[in-house]
Amino acid sequence: VIQIKNLHKAYGALEVLKGVSLSAPKGNVISLIGSSGSGKSTLLRCCNLLEDSQQGEVLFKGEPVTWKGSGHARRPSDPKQVLRIRTNLSMVFQQFNLWSHMTILQNVMEAPLTVLGRDRAEVEKSARGYLEKVGIGDKCDVYPAQLSGGQQQRAAIARGLCMEPEALLFDEPTSALDPELEQEVVKVIKDLANEGRTMLIVTHDMKLAADVSDHVIFLHQGLIEEEGAPDALFGAPKSERLRGFLSATH
Ligand code: ATP
Ligand code: MG
Repeated sequence: VIQIKNLHKAYGALEVLKGVSLSAPKGNVISLIGSSGSGKSTLLRCCNLLEDSQQGEVLFKGEPVTWKGSGHARRPSDPKQVLRIRTNLSMVFQQFNLWSHMTILQNVMEAPLTVLGRDRAEVEKSARGYLEKVGIGDKCDVYPAQLSGGQQQRAAIARGLCMEPEALLFDEPTSALDPELEQEVVKVIKDLANEGRTMLIVTHDMKLAADVSDHVIFLHQGLIEEEGAPDALFGAPKSERLRGFLSATH
């Protein structure tokens, strides 16, 4: 679904991605791990073009993003293409980012109605269905502040699903949560993985990465230091840095 080739991204003089390639085929779950500042969030944000990049390719369903300009002036050139990619790659953030003045149901319905212009009755039906699926079907009419963190995050996942995206991108979806609430969200992510959803997950939860991933990528200072199947990566890490990282996170 999404492919990145030799991507370079800098903020001014700070090089954050120094030539990263990844490919997330349909139905695969890819996890991104690495220490703070290694570029995980930036890479995820480059996938759905929330960030520009200076060099390299981003392909969505085999179709390369078209750019104009070069270096720091490089921008995607076709707004329709950008919108298509953003709406097809739903992002779930660490801090949920629900709209506090809208009920949970309204939160989930908002983007399909306003961005996709879908039929209200149809959207409401599918929104209720997704809220049910993530286990908070009874919370449709309350406001985000009335929910626990785990429930808010599950609402944010339902909101992502309601866009009927090609893939879901998660940026540390459980790290703002207490351990017991974390498990509610982990369960939802595991269910989605079992359904064959395409997902890219930035996580500090090595157990989650080991359990759900087809492929794990360890980023170090803007480069892929090691990648592979979870069994190999966690069971027999080759690089010294990955070994150090794993022993520090346990
Ligand atoms: P964490 O685990 O802490 O979330 P990360 O791997 O997600 O880290 P990024 O958020 O991708 O790291 O950031 C990588 C580097 O880019 C960091 O050094 C960060 O300070 C820098 N950076 C990120 N966003 C910006 C920005 N908008 N402007 C300038 N520098 C930025
Ligand atoms: Mg981050």
